[in-house]
Amino acid sequence: MTPRRLVDKFALITGASRGIGRAVAERFAQEGATVAINAVAPGPQADEALEAVAAAGAAAGFPDRRHMLVYADVASSAAVDAMFGEVLAAFGRLDILVNNAGIQTEEPSESFTDETMERVLGVNLLGAAYCARAAIAHFLSRPGGGAIVNNSSVHQLIPKPGYLSYSISKGGLDNMTRTLALEFADKGIRVNSVGPGAVATDINAAWKDDPVRRKVIEGMIPMRYVATPEQMAPVFAFLASDDASYVTGQTLYACGGLTLFNE
Ligand code: NAD
Repeated sequence: MTPRRLVDKFALITGASRGIGRAVAERFAQEGATVAINAVAPGPQADEALEAVAAAGAAAGFPDRRHMLVYADVASSAAVDAMFGEVLAAFGRLDILVNNAGIQTEEPSESFTDETMERVLGVNLLGAAYCARAAIAHFLSRPGGGAIVNNSSVHQLIPKPGYLSYSISKGGLDNMTRTLALEFADKGIRVNSVGPGAVATDINAAWKDDPVRRKVIEGMIPMRYVATPEQMAPVFAFLASDDASYVTGQTLYACGGLTLFNE
C-alpha cells in the first residue's frame, strides 16, 4: 500500500504536465498532498495532468484536495514570482518545492550556440534557483520550514559529451543543492536532489522508441533496463517527506546502478 507521508502538505512541482514531474505529482497526491502543477502554458496535456493527479489522489482516499494548474516559464524570474504569488494566494502556504522542469539539447561543444547554452541554463539551473529563492523566502516567513527536492541527473556526476549545457546545468544544480542545504540547515529547510539515470520520457525522444538505440542504453545500465517515471516518483516523495527529516544536501541516485563503475 502507498504510504501517506504527505498528508496536509502543499507542494509545487515544476514541469509537471508530463514525464517524471507528472508521476511525482500523482504520487504526492496519493500520499495526501495538495499539488500545484506547473506547466509552461495551458493546453490539453496540462488539463490531463490535473485530472490524473486528482483521480490518483481521490483513489488513494483524498478526494477533497484542491490541486491546481499554474503556468510559468521557469526561466523567467518575473514569471516564477508571479507563479508563487498565485500558488500562495490559492493554498495559503507551501511546504514542498520540486524543481523538475528541464530540457536538453545535443550540440558539439566546439560550436555550441549562445541560444542553446542560455536556454538550457535558464530553464534547468536559473529556473531552479528562482523557484528556490521564492520557496525559501516563504519557508522563512513562517514556522515549520520546508523541503526542496531538485530533479538533477546522473550527469551532475558523469560527464555527458555532446551535451555541455545540460552537464553544466546539472553540475550547477548539485552545487545549488548543497549550498542551500548548508545555508538553511538550521532553519528547518532541507534541500536534496534525485539523480535519475535513464527514464523513458519525452526528453529522451531520440532513443526511447528506437529499439536499437535503446538496447545500447540498456547495455550501459547495470540493471539492464530503462526506468519508468513511476519508479522515480517515490524517491521524490521520500526526500520531500518527514521520513527524510535528517537528510539534507544529498543526491539520491535512482539510476539502476549507472553511477557505479561498470567494467
Ligand atoms: P520531459 O521532457 O517529459 O519533462 C520535462 C518537463 O519540463 C515538461 O513537462 C516540460 O514542459 C517542462 N519544461 C520545459 N521547459 C520548461 C520551462 N521553461 N518552464 C517550465 N517547465 C518547463 O522529461 P523528463 O524526463 O520528465 O524530465 C524531467 C526532469 O528529469 C528534467 O529536469 C530532466 O533533466 C530530469 N532527468 C530526466 C532523465 C531521463 O532519463 N528522463 C534523467 C535524468 C534527469
